[in-house]
Amino acid sequence: MKYINKNEEPSKFTCWKALENDDWKPSWNVFQAPEKPIVHDALLKEQGYICSYCGMRITRETSHIEHLKPRSSYPHLALEYTNLIASC
Ligand SMILES: [Zn+2]
Repeated sequence: MKYINKNEEPSKFTCWKALENDDWKPSWNVFQAPEKPIVHDALLKEQGYICSYCGMRITRETSHIEHLKPRSSYPHLALEYTNLIASC
């Protein structure tokens, strides 16, 4: 697995999560455009457009956002930037 020097999460992602209130909670299921592609692009950029598992060159079209620690076991890390990577 490729070592990734994680950057700060995109500010748009931080702001979106900060919109949390009594009626609305940020979750993986409602994570979509415009925030999701912004995060996806930030991940691709910090990884040098390389899949973190196999080292293949990837783009936004040929990759997806993956959780290092799976959502099923770590639901509280689903929107944690340090737990997100791009892979093919
Ligand atoms: Zn791969």
